[in-house]
Amino acid sequence: VDLKILYRGPLSSCNYGCQYCPFAKRKEGRAELARDREALHRFVGWVESRTQDKLGLFFTPWGEALVRPAYQEALSRLSWMRQVEKVAAQTNLSYPLRWTERANPARLAFWATYHPEWAKRASFVAKCKALDEGGFSMSVGVVGFARFREQIARLRDELPPHVYLWINAVKDELQGLSPQDRAFFSEIDPLYERNTRHYPSLGRACRAGAQVVSVDGQGDIRRCHFIPQVIGNLYRDPGIEGALAERPCSAPTCHCHIGYVHLDYLELGKVFGAGLLERVPRGRWEDWRGQET
Ligand code: SF4
Ligand code: SF4
Repeated sequence: VDLKILYRGPLSSCNYGCQYCPFAKRKEGRAELARDREALHRFVGWVESRTQDKLGLFFTPWGEALVRPAYQEALSRLSWMRQVEKVAAQTNLSYPLRWTERANPARLAFWATYHPEWAKRASFVAKCKALDEGGFSMSVGVVGFARFREQIARLRDELPPHVYLWINAVKDELQGLSPQDRAFFSEIDPLYERNTRHYPSLGRACRAGAQVVSVDGQGDIRRCHFIPQVIGNLYRDPGIEGALAERPCSAPTCHCHIGYVHLDYLELGKVFGAGLLERVPRGRWEDWRGQET
């Protein structure tokens, strides 16, 4: 198969405690962490066995996974497998980066989020620069609260100019933003306004379920993170081949970047191209200015 897989195992803890975080507010015990590691090993083993496939993998945990050596090891290994075209992960970059020296920079990519109330900017920026110099593809982002404006402006100044900085729209709080706030976010991220919308999706064609799926720790396959119906299992019959099919979306709207990028009518493949998983737009990010749709 030629497929993108969003992997989200049971892990649901984080070393940060962002007030705006919808998950990761709990500590896990040894047994839970062991269960998560087992699920991860099983998934990596499955990928390893799929030598005829072309796979893009995206780790989208309920918390922070890359602080854990098992994930560091897994990502390094996956990045060297021939069938893995890209392996990307959402992360807060709060750990030493030595493990990335074992990874393949041509295949491992980062979706790095800066959390101003938890991370020191200097250390975060130093890590972004190290990854960039190491040849890893990377987008950097911040959640779009007006109170973060100063930090965001400084972050933009300090990051290498070619690194794309996205702003995640806080949909529930858009009403409270001033026109200046929105203009500022769009100045930083020319694609910001596209992230402020709830896109109508019911009955629309979406590649989720056909060219991209979500997989949990038990191997259960769903078309995306937002539609709970299980459509197959990686480790049991009928497996992945039986699960994949074109289906119209059954949810009224789609508002999360990792979902709506797959909605056919938005044609966001033209914007993100090969950087779709780690949210890196094609070409120079500045060139997307003024191309708001
Ligand atoms: S770093 Fe991410 S996962 Fe952790 S608390 Fe903050 S938003 Fe949640
Ligand atoms: S439009 Fe969004 S909710 Fe609907 S199938 Fe695609 S990713 Fe899932």
